[in-house]
Amino acid sequence: MIDSNANILLIYTGGTIGMVENSETGSLEAFNFSHLTSHIPELQRLNFTINTIVFDPVIDSSDVSTKHWVDLVKIIEDNYHSHDGFVILHGTDTMAFTASALSFMLENLNKPVVLTGAQLPIGKLRTDAKENLITAMEIAADKDITGSPIVPEVCIFFQNYLFRGNRTTKANADNFNAFRSYNYPYLAKSGIHIRYDRNNILPLPEKKVKFHYQMDSHIAILKLFPGINKLVVDSVLQTKNLKAVILETYGSGNAPRIPWFIDALKDAVKRGLLVVNITQCAEGSVEMQRYETGRELLKAGVISGFDLTVEAAITKLMFLIGHRYSKEEITVRMRVPLVGEITRLDEREI
Ligand code: ASP
Repeated sequence: MIDSNANILLIYTGGTIGMVENSETGSLEAFNFSHLTSHIPELQRLNFTINTIVFDPVIDSSDVSTKHWVDLVKIIEDNYHSHDGFVILHGTDTMAFTASALSFMLENLNKPVVLTGAQLPIGKLRTDAKENLITAMEIAADKDITGSPIVPEVCIFFQNYLFRGNRTTKANADNFNAFRSYNYPYLAKSGIHIRYDRNNILPLPEKKVKFHYQMDSHIAILKLFPGINKLVVDSVLQTKNLKAVILETYGSGNAPRIPWFIDALKDAVKRGLLVVNITQCAEGSVEMQRYETGRELLKAGVISGFDLTVEAAITKLMFLIGHRYSKEEITVRMRVPLVGEITRLDEREI
């Protein structure tokens, strides 16, 4: 039920949705917000109040940094009590990272924060922007019969599907259905009606909302490939001030058993580095006990990221390291869900 007294805050950060073509170069450039609203007069027909905040300058999401996440949390904190829900317009390229980061930074969230964007600019005839934006606004204003928000979590709405933000990945650079949530079912599907699957949506938290601002980005991703060079591995693992490495492994969390590689990992772990195992497969999870090639990693002290996306793993590490938890505490917290980003131990099939 859409709450007609709702106040929704629309935050425009940039992205294709509001871009226009540079007539000289032909490339897309960020444009101002009035361009967007003039192309969606329907926004004025939504029967609730919409307030807007525009990033200055608006950015292509490839330029997003932890500073922008902090800015978003500040905007949401400053406007939290005066608004019922939030819609963030964001470029698609790094939207899954921002959604994952916000899911950790907005603890005990009890209002919807819906990210959306578009694959085609708003001015194009076949644009997907209009549908994405209007439905995202409706979801942000939707309440159940008790008056509680239906989706009190950070999510991404794109091309008819609402996904949990920290389970989402951009999987297609061309198609309108750009996002996937491989390891968790969707939260809602929009057609003639918006159909929510409430079993998949986080319950309202009992504790008070808490806004977090510390993110530590001394993290690297090391993606394995057959023939990977020792010099490259060593230079990543020995990067000055590095605190964590995400090891992107094969299949169910497997890596070469060659001694120099295992020794380099053991040495990194001994030096205090957190090494988290994430599979290169889009779907499924890390099970290091399954093959000898995974057991070696386990023995070396590598932490299982189970079914985390890379986006969720990196932002969760930034969040936990930013909060100065000990290595032991981070190891424990990486394995359990903070906000539904990883399948719970007691729900895993293995
Ligand atoms: N490069 C754009 C961005 O992420 C792509 C998009 O918005 O879809 O900002």
